[in-house]
Amino acid sequence: MKQVEYGKTGKKISRLGFGVLRLPYEVRENRIVYDEESSIDVIRYAIDAGINYFDTAPSYCGKRSQLILGEAIRGRRDEIYLSTKFDTADPDLEAQFENSLKELGTDHIDFYHFWSMDLSYFADKGLAKNGPLDRMTKLKEQGLVGHIAFSSHDTPENMIEMIRLAEGRFEALLCQYNLLDRRNEPVMAYAKSLGMGVSLMGPMGGGRLGTPTELMDVLPGGASVASAETALRFVFSNPNVDIALSGMNTTCMVDENIRTANDPAPLSREERDRIEAVADEKKKLSDLYCTACNYCMPCPAGINIPEIFKMYNYHRVYGITDYARAQYGMIGTGGDKDFQNASACVDCGLCEAQCPQKLAIRDELKNAHEALAP
Ligand code: SF4
Ligand code: SF4
Repeated sequence: MKQVEYGKTGKKISRLGFGVLRLPYEVRENRIVYDEESSIDVIRYAIDAGINYFDTAPSYCGKRSQLILGEAIRGRRDEIYLSTKFDTADPDLEAQFENSLKELGTDHIDFYHFWSMDLSYFADKGLAKNGPLDRMTKLKEQGLVGHIAFSSHDTPENMIEMIRLAEGRFEALLCQYNLLDRRNEPVMAYAKSLGMGVSLMGPMGGGRLGTPTELMDVLPGGASVASAETALRFVFSNPNVDIALSGMNTTCMVDENIRTANDPAPLSREERDRIEAVADEKKKLSDLYCTACNYCMPCPAGINIPEIFKMYNYHRVYGITDYARAQYGMIGTGGDKDFQNASACVDCGLCEAQCPQKLAIRDELKNAHEALAP
């Protein structure tokens, strides 16, 4: 597996990182239940294949992610780098950190991130004297944290300001970037110019590109090229990208993604330009930008929100309406039998409070139902 120098951290990291947030699961009694045995197998398979960066957070996978990862890396801690997060909603950083160490079965965290941080929090609380950044710095001085980093869904301008305010204490940035969302290019370039490591979440656009689209027609190899492969090649052709995190739930995905990450020939400038031109036409997608992160799940009314948004995008963005309607009509049958369609929404609003993309989920579900219901 190809490795890169991760900024100035002195660490050599595999170009493909493992985002431990989409592990294999089943739905039982309207609840997502993670298949821990398969999850551990996939993680160990990835280590065997040379992936050495694993990114988790206390709340991922219904709060099971750290525990499952901890079990998977037992006896193999020295082969990998661990990244986890501090949830800024809970001020007790030390308690959260201790819990992460315990769940992961380790005595140190290589990359400790402020999770999904925005400028208003950082300028007010994060930077306060003896506040979270100072306390993280203390953990670093004690050797318990290797490097301090942050992830964010804030605007690129605000992320740049956070980096500036931290005065060199952030050593890495985790942000979203993919073929259909290139907003963060300026902050990635800024971080890179300062010698920070740059890692990406959502390099595949949440799997939205998983079907042949008109985009595929302009890609090298046309529709025969796997869309996930193209999405990864696209992000790796940006010189400001160090590593891309992918949430992989099968060994097949691990193999495919590694093959692409090892590809010595990224997209040419001309290929990138062609793709960017088509992607720009699809900008309306950003109005409904679901990354399939699953934070809004489970919905108490049994609605598989990210899945419905995926179907809606097939119709709305790519114009493959027949397929989208057929898929929507199958909700409540077969493998989807535990789910309801969007009309089951009881308007509780729980999902919107969890959505990092700040989507108007209830309105969008109504629109999706209107467009896709028979
Ligand atoms: S608002 Fe609707 S979709 Fe969202 S959690 Fe409540 S019932 Fe589910
Ligand atoms: S609707 Fe929001 S929270 Fe739910 S999966 Fe999509 S991006 Fe994530």
